[in-house]
Amino acid sequence: MTLLFIFNISFFNQLILSLFIAFLIVFISYRLKFLTINGSLATFFLAGIIFSLGGIKWSVPILTFFILSSLLSKARKKKNENVELFFEKSGVRDYAQVLANGGIGGVLVVMNFLTQNDFYYLLYLSSLSAVCADTWATELGTWKKTETYNILTFKKVEQGVSGGISLIGSFGALLGTFVIAFSGVFWINMNYIYYFLLIIVSGFAGSIIDSILGATLQLQHECNICKKITERKIHCGVKTNYYQGFYWIDNDVVNFIVSLAAPLVIIIFQNI
Ligand SMILES: [Zn+2]
Repeated sequence: MTLLFIFNISFFNQLILSLFIAFLIVFISYRLKFLTINGSLATFFLAGIIFSLGGIKWSVPILTFFILSSLLSKARKKKNENVELFFEKSGVRDYAQVLANGGIGGVLVVMNFLTQNDFYYLLYLSSLSAVCADTWATELGTWKKTETYNILTFKKVEQGVSGGISLIGSFGALLGTFVIAFSGVFWINMNYIYYFLLIIVSGFAGSIIDSILGATLQLQHECNICKKITERKIHCGVKTNYYQGFYWIDNDVVNFIVSLAAPLVIIIFQNI
């Protein structure tokens, strides 16, 4: 039944329209330097799948995340460029970042399409809520100089260091979860307030997991010149030294785990 659906005219129209919109968004994003070349390709595929299989209700939340986060990232960069030196990558997103943030969403839209089970939509919103919380925590938390503490030891750390949390960053995380919940919850046909809260709580839990992983397992280096802890392999023009974490757990791996963790929080919650 579902597979027959692929061949009918309205689906074909939706597919063409989806690919067209995906192309337009990617083209503009590339011109505005939101995406690298391989990031553009990944976004085109991912957006094409989500738009065509999910239609408007799956498209609005991820577009809300993508557009607002890209603008926020650009604005923050203008305001506080120094903090960029801590991050492994600049604000221009590459394919690994795109898939780390939206890959799970892509899998969930396919699952929903094949099973026609709306539970996957709730998981999707939860996953987006977590990646949005994580992104906005970083962007707002590094917007201007603010006190930042290690999430586990509560010792003061440099702003922008993985595992660091601040008041404004936590507010950013919460705001991110609200925006995603608001962008998608009205397509769930019952118990808005319950699901709204579930998306916020699971997303915020995701951003806490993100900070804990950042403080523990994520790869970090130390600069030989300025002694700062950074995700970068090169700092102050020289190669950095290993500081802590697993070599294969970079920021993208952490983001991917977070995008998976938030839906798991929902699954556990629903089964209690
Ligand atoms: Zn340095």
